[in-house]
Parts: sequence; structure tokens; C-alpha cells
Amino acid sequence: MAQIDDLPPLRDVISRFGLDARKSLGQNFLLDLNLTARIARASGDLEGATVVEVGPGPGGLTRALLAGGARRVVAIERDERCLAALAEIAAHYPGRLEVVSGDALAVDMAALAGGPARIVANLPYNVATPLLVGWLRTEPWPPWWTSATLMFQREVAERIVAAAGDDAYGRLGVLAGWRSEARILFEVGPKAFVPPPKVTSAIVHLVPRPAPLAADPDRLEKVVAAAFNQRRKMLRSSLKSVFADPEAALAAAGIEPTRRAEEIDVAGFAALARTGSPET
Ligand code: SAM
Repeated sequence: MAQIDDLPPLRDVISRFGLDARKSLGQNFLLDLNLTARIARASGDLEGATVVEVGPGPGGLTRALLAGGARRVVAIERDERCLAALAEIAAHYPGRLEVVSGDALAVDMAALAGGPARIVANLPYNVATPLLVGWLRTEPWPPWWTSATLMFQREVAERIVAAAGDDAYGRLGVLAGWRSEARILFEVGPKAFVPPPKVTSAIVHLVPRPAPLAADPDRLEKVVAAAFNQRRKMLRSSLKSVFADPEAALAAAGIEPTRRAEEIDVAGFAALARTGSPET
């Protein structure tokens, strides 16, 4: 396959800038530019798009996004050691790469995006779930992001796309299923990363639902947390911490009181979150 750009190989970039991977920052770098190009393509046609990338690191995915035609990439990186390497990429693609030095959990991404944008990232695993939850809980909805194409540990990816009845179904599956259509696109083995993580990873693609079922996000999270914290118990028992009268709430939502959390689909949880039954 042809080179995606004529910048130096990532291995050289890493050694020249001394970017030895740090576990505390969730650093597992992708050095194969054909793989990063595949991930960039998985987000759809990039021509003219604005992309927000979390954790560009030495820039393998960033380069693929820019070579793939993104008009503008806003890349948020916490590790200041990477900034000089990223400046080289910015110089190669004048006016198209903005590097933001900071913590992705703390910055205002909607403001940085400045309008509709895609999210594409090989996420640092230590903050991947909180970042996703933040994107799914964006207010107002529909959100500023038009799609998210993200690398997770496979086990987390399976929880994101899980539906009622699946072993991996839980809080993440309800939240992701409520506000997005999420699917796993492909897996990536440990050897693709430097250093290799212990587990297999997977790319998940999420597209926001334009009109999710009505539910207050805080209320939904509370109900779902209570239900899954005691996932083997019947709902009439596990929901005692959130409803003064769980049986009445379940009846109002049209759910049998002997059902368990893992059997209730997103529509059921949304209905429960909407019930007027007094809360504890
Ligand atoms: N995108 C690069 C790649 O694919 O090779 C690096 C991916 S590596 C899994 C995760 C990156 O996220 C690292 O560069 C790390 O420094 C950065 N990072 C970790 N925590 C972060 C945070 N809270 N905010 C922004 N970046 C963070």
C-alpha cells in the first residue's frame, strides 16, 4: 500500500522526541499507518469534515485523518512531550491541525469543535469510559458530535453495544443504546500497539439518535444503576433505593415486578425513568 504521507515513520518520531510510552497515560501507540488509515476511513468520508481527536500521541491517527481529507482536526493531548512531534504534523498540513494541550475530561470540546464534528480516537483506556459517558450525556441533544469512532478494550466495546438479554448488558449498554446506534466495526489485536496491551481491542462506531426516547438523563442513570447494582434480584426489590413504591413504578412502566435488570430493554428503562412514582 502507498505511504499515506511523506512525514517520517512513527518509530523515528517516537525515538527522536523520546516518547517512551507511559502506562499512567494509557499510552499504547499505533505505528502502522495503514491501520490508522483504516480507522480514519471507518468514520466515513472525511472530505471537508471537522474531527476532534482525543490523545493524538505521536500522531499516527492524526496523520491518517489529515491525509484522509479532514478539513480541520482538533487534537487534545495531555502529554506535553508529544507537542513538538504534533507541531511537525501541523506544519505539514498548514491551518488544518489545532493541538490543544490539556485533559480531555476537562476541556469544553463542543466549544473547541465550534460546530458539528466527528470524534475519532484511539482512546487512553484509563479515561475511555468516562469520556464516552460524557459524550452520551451531552446536553442539549442532538449533540455537537455527528459520529464517534473509537478504540476500546474489546470487553468494554461489547458492553457498549450490548442489548437486553446479552451477558455484557448493563449501564453502558442502556446509555449507549438510548442515545445512539452503536456497533463494533472490527477488532485490533495487541500486537498492533506499542507496547502491546494485555487484551484485544475493538473499534466502535456510534451515531447519535436524532430523537431518543424521552427520559431525564440523571433519573435514567439512577434507575439503571440501582437495577444493575443488584442484577440478579427482581426489580421490585432492586429498585427500592430509587422508588418509594417500586411495584407501582413498575406497573406504571408496564414492567412485571419479577423481571430482572438484564431483561429490560432501553424503552423499559426510559419508561421507568419517566414514571411519576414518588422517589426515595
Ligand atoms: N492516538 C495515538 C495512537 O493511536 O498511537 C495515541 C493513543 S494512546 C492509546 C492514548 C493517548 O491519549 C496518549 O497519547 C496519551 O498521552 C493521551 N491521553 C491520556 N490521557 C489523556 C487525557 N485525559 N486527555 C487527553 N489525552 C490523554
